[in-house]
Amino acid sequence: MSTLTDLTLAEARDKLKAREISARELTDAHLTAIEKARPLNAFITETPEKARAMADQADKRLAEGVAGPLEGVPLAIKDLFCTEGVQTTAASHILQGFVPTYESTVTKNLWHAGAVLLGKTNLDEFAMGSSNETSYFGPVISPWRRTGDPTPLVPGGSSGGSAAAVAAGLALGATGTDTGGSIRQPAAVAGICGLKPTYGRCSRWGIVAFASSLDQAGPMARTVGDCAILLKAMASHDAKDSTSLNVGVPDYEKSVRAGVKGLRIGIPKEVRGEGLSAEIAALWDKGAEWLKAQGAEIVEVSLKHAHHALPAYYIVAPAEASSNLARYDGVRYGLRVPGDDITQTYENTRAAGFGREVQRRILIGTYVLSAGYYDAYYLRAQKIRTLIARDFEEAFKGCDLILTPTTPGPAFAIGAKTSDPVEMYLNDVFTVTVNLAGLPGMSVPAGLTGDGLPLGLQLIGKPFDEETIFRAAGAIEEAAQFTARPGDWWSTS
Ligand code: GLN
Repeated sequence: MSTLTDLTLAEARDKLKAREISARELTDAHLTAIEKARPLNAFITETPEKARAMADQADKRLAEGVAGPLEGVPLAIKDLFCTEGVQTTAASHILQGFVPTYESTVTKNLWHAGAVLLGKTNLDEFAMGSSNETSYFGPVISPWRRTGDPTPLVPGGSSGGSAAAVAAGLALGATGTDTGGSIRQPAAVAGICGLKPTYGRCSRWGIVAFASSLDQAGPMARTVGDCAILLKAMASHDAKDSTSLNVGVPDYEKSVRAGVKGLRIGIPKEVRGEGLSAEIAALWDKGAEWLKAQGAEIVEVSLKHAHHALPAYYIVAPAEASSNLARYDGVRYGLRVPGDDITQTYENTRAAGFGREVQRRILIGTYVLSAGYYDAYYLRAQKIRTLIARDFEEAFKGCDLILTPTTPGPAFAIGAKTSDPVEMYLNDVFTVTVNLAGLPGMSVPAGLTGDGLPLGLQLIGKPFDEETIFRAAGAIEEAAQFTARPGDWWSTS
């Protein structure tokens, strides 16, 4: 059984196609692994019956020779994607019990390609967080531990359940969403690959909205090639999302081993400032060396306004969230806590239904959008956003890709940063710029800390140039030879 869950997605796909394994046995192996891994709390909803039925259908199509590109591949889906007939909570009490009558475009594309739904993964409530600790359904425990130290660690967030599931071998791949780093940061600290596509590459339709001008769906998997395969299936133009772009979706898998000869890799000098740990700085240097050794040229670039990105993000994102979350009123779906009149019903429902971090963001968002403060905060943040986008445009005149660390450090202990929101927000320092500029970015596992925890490197590309990201990500993967996997302490505990 264990060997089936150790396959890469590409290997499993090929074995399914060659009919060396069946979709049903592959799915069953993952369902067994999920059951054993319940101490990780990676899933909010497991869908074993649906998974088996989908796998049987896949086997039928494989037998008939009409298989899709992901036929029989079992996946985990972040519980922010609406799935028809399957509870979708956004990890919030306010949506507990909500069963959508429609399917998000991204998941629809995956099922159309033949993939199998294993279940819905845990996340920070409404995707607000960097550690998966704000979920109403409890934190996800990382499958990783420091060497010789059983302290429970966070899996990163907000796509922490997806990251943990993929790292622990509970799914061959997963979906995530990334508003300020929620695919790349958990991928980095869980030792897997994760890509945030260009804004507009994947449809947002049917994904519970957090900050609509920043949100993007993307793949998470154990290899660069597996992310390439998943992105190809997830991406599409969608008339139901007016910000989805009508551009061709290339065969990304081809780019993964295309090499980096002649590519210019930019290293932003400002990002190298103080506060960068020696371990992260060394990893970054190593990443640049790897690419250089394979024929890329390393150049210095400037992102002058990068240090304003975090404050700007933490104004723009809550502003949009406060507006998006206005729809949860206890009237049409989800939780309702009745009061004496309609106003009191709204108040009771929203007070009981939203957790502390979500309430904090609604308050911040409402404040920065209010008449007296709009110019001082929201408008200035939008101006900074434009300056950051321009910095990237300038930088990309001199390079094809930008290389940075993904996170300022490895996974931390559960509870270590929950009392200080600003400390938590600092996790996103290398990732938010990319969302503010709408660019594609990917995290690739690059090494381990001294005490055995994964670290990732981030590649940032030009708009709609995920192919070049995959080339460099493939090169880093090849050089890093990152084969470390977490133990399986949960199945014996
Ligand atoms: N950690 C960031 C936040 O809390 C990003 C979250 C995300 O990308 N969904 O806003």
